[in-house]
Amino acid sequence: MPFHDILGQEDAKRLLQNALRKDAVSHAYLFTGLAGSGQMKTALMFAQAIFCTGRKDDACGECLECRKVEHGNHPDLTLLKPDGASIKIDQIRELQRVFSYRSEGVNPKVYIIEGADKMTVQAANSLLKFLEEPPAPAVGILISDNSSSLLPTIQSRTQRIPFSPLHPDLMLQALAADGVPVPLARCAVSLTSGLDGCRELLAQNWFAEMRNLVLQLAKESMGKGSTAVATAGQKLTKAGLGEHMDTLFSMFHLWFKDMLYFLYRRHESIVFIDQLDFISRHARERSTEQWVSYMESATESKRKLRSNANAVLCLEQFLIRLEG
Ligand SMILES: [Zn+2]
Repeated sequence: MPFHDILGQEDAKRLLQNALRKDAVSHAYLFTGLAGSGQMKTALMFAQAIFCTGRKDDACGECLECRKVEHGNHPDLTLLKPDGASIKIDQIRELQRVFSYRSEGVNPKVYIIEGADKMTVQAANSLLKFLEEPPAPAVGILISDNSSSLLPTIQSRTQRIPFSPLHPDLMLQALAADGVPVPLARCAVSLTSGLDGCRELLAQNWFAEMRNLVLQLAKESMGKGSTAVATAGQKLTKAGLGEHMDTLFSMFHLWFKDMLYFLYRRHESIVFIDQLDFISRHARERSTEQWVSYMESATESKRKLRSNANAVLCLEQFLIRLEG
């Protein structure tokens, strides 16, 4: 898995590959940025490149070292992640114990700490000494989407590698490669940030069902004397979607925005792309101001939900406003 297999993140890749090329690999890095922007994949890739005997600034993917990393059994690579809600001092002590032995080869040992901001204060203090004076040559990679909450002393002792959010087009490409249907992929990309987040959302059984329900209600509410309000609550409960109302209103928001995209001839931005025909026939039935006010209603409904309003009631009130 060479560096060019990692989507986007050209700056991060360049910084890391330059370090490898110049034998200037730091003993600690901090990968920051939105979760799921490829930090873990890049960290593993970097570890592989450090161990690789075939390439200097990349991983050949074929040598024994590369294959051990790929199979998750490289003796000089240690992965650490929160145990429950936090990374505890015992986990850092265990890391220190493992690292008190020299590596098996000529290379430094590598450790990757996922969710590094979740270290307890004791764990972080314990890591601090280790970051400064590892008992054997070591490269640490700390991953955090909330790096400002790390101890300043840890931040200052690590080289920061920022990860930028992936461009939506890149995410769509990756999801297409996963075999996700385009309309679902567009919806997921519009609702979450980061490829991991999208994949997580798409793996939920309710996600596609929710999209269908939103389409059904949205279309019904366009008709005169619609039954959308009367049956909405029932449909919601029947499909077991009541827990995901936040997503429901977010999807409605996207739907109304699609109407505006259509009116402003920005078809390439339309999320419900499989509904282009319906959208083209109905977008002009409301004014721009009305579509905008519907979007505001959706946002307002999400706010009400957060303050514990009744979910079904919230949906009914929202749908009534659409018909008015
Ligand atoms: Zn290799």
